[in-house]
This record gives sequence, structure tokens and C-alpha cells, in this order.
Amino acid sequence: MPEINRRRFVIAAASMLSAPMLAKGAEAQAAPQSFAGRGAIRRGVDATVTRVPTAQPLVAMTFDDGPHPNLTPQLLDMLRARGIRATFYVIGRNAARYPQILQRMVAEGHEIGNHTYSHPSLFGHSDASVLNQIDRTNQAVYAAVGRPPVTMRPPYGNLYDRQRLMLHQARAMPTVLWSIDTLDWQRPGSGVVAQRIVHGSHTGGVILAHDIHSATVRAMPAALDGVAARGFRFVTVSELIGWPRWDRRRLRLAGASR
Ligand SMILES: [Zn+2]
Repeated sequence: MPEINRRRFVIAAASMLSAPMLAKGAEAQAAPQSFAGRGAIRRGVDATVTRVPTAQPLVAMTFDDGPHPNLTPQLLDMLRARGIRATFYVIGRNAARYPQILQRMVAEGHEIGNHTYSHPSLFGHSDASVLNQIDRTNQAVYAAVGRPPVTMRPPYGNLYDRQRLMLHQARAMPTVLWSIDTLDWQRPGSGVVAQRIVHGSHTGGVILAHDIHSATVRAMPAALDGVAARGFRFVTVSELIGWPRWDRRRLRLAGASR
């Protein structure tokens, strides 16, 4: 994960990404040329969300790389017990393999994001190859739950500014990174993972974890309860950005390209 683009503590300016752009709701994920907000993208401004400026004590809990056949359902139990909605950046091939888990996510109010089909580092990929990874994943999620993701997260955070802008223009999908990193892939143990989440949480923050590590899932009860005890409320990425709840939107599949 060394390549993470740390200098970019961005800034999806609310004016750029939120409600007015998506006034057409169901059309937002339609063919790219009909995306209502596309014209609002300013040259040189990439469509990246790392944290969101908000006055409310909101945080978004995000889980990458799943779904995992055993761990993800355990995690869903923990979230359900607390009435917490999270965002799952799923790998497309896993989504295709475990559609029932995606269906449960949607039924319980969670959001599903796009984490590419086969989890490559996208540095050095052609635009066509990037779109192929995105589109195949959107298709897999759509096949499972009848709506496609509206945001993406690149594996390892690896996506050049130019690629992010390309993706936003072609698919209306912002790149969602994170502002609180559990570094759980280094396997520091569940206590450390929980501590990083509780102590790292801040208003408008996006928390990164992975639901393919058992220690991460074991960390979640203490992490979730600790964050709530500090006065934060969990929302999905769409809600944090100011968009409608993803699990309730009617979205069409865009750009069955190539
Ligand atoms: Zn990943």
C-alpha cells in the first residue's frame, strides 16, 4: 500500500458532487452522456472523495475485498444488531460468486461500491482496461441486486488523477479513498484495529477496513461501539456525500461498453 496518494486529502466539493447533480435520480447511472452533472466537472478537478466536509458528526465505515463467504455474514450480523449501515467495496468476481450475500447487504440497508473485477493495481492500465474492470463489476453487482454501484475504490488506492477524471466523465463514478486507515492488511490484531477506528474517527471521515480478515471482523463490535460512544453516527458513503440512500435508488446499468 505504499503508493497511496496521501497528499490528496480531498474534497469532493459538495457543490460538485451532491444533490443538484443527481436531480434526475434514476438517470444518474444511465448512459454517460445523459448524466446530469457531467457538465459540472471542472477541468483539472478530479472527482475524488477522501473525507467529506460536514457539520454533522458522521462517519462512513467501508469494507473492501469481499464478500467473504463466512466473515461477511458475521459482519452483517454485527452491523444489523447495531442498526448500522456500511459500504462494501466488493471485488466483482467475488460478487459474481456470492450474489446472496450482496442481496442480504441491500436488504439490510448497506451500500455496495465497485472495487474492480479482479483487484489489479490500475496504474499503467489503459482507459479501456480500467473501464472493463469497472463495467464487469457493475454488471456483476447489477446481476445480483438489480442496481449498480455509484462509486468506486481503486485497489491499493492506485488510480492516477487523470484516470479518476476519465472514470468520472465516462461513468459518473467518483473515486472514494479514505481518511482513516486501519492498516488491517498488516494483521496488527483486532485490538489495534479497533483502537485505530475509534481514535481515528473524525467528522466526515471515511474508514477503511477489509472484511476478508477475521481479526478485522472480530474488532468490529468494539470499534463500532467505541465510535458511537464518541458521538459519531455511521452512514453509507452515498449518504456522507449527500446523495440519496443507494439501497433505495432506482439505477440503470451504464455503459455496457466496448
Ligand atoms: Zn482491495
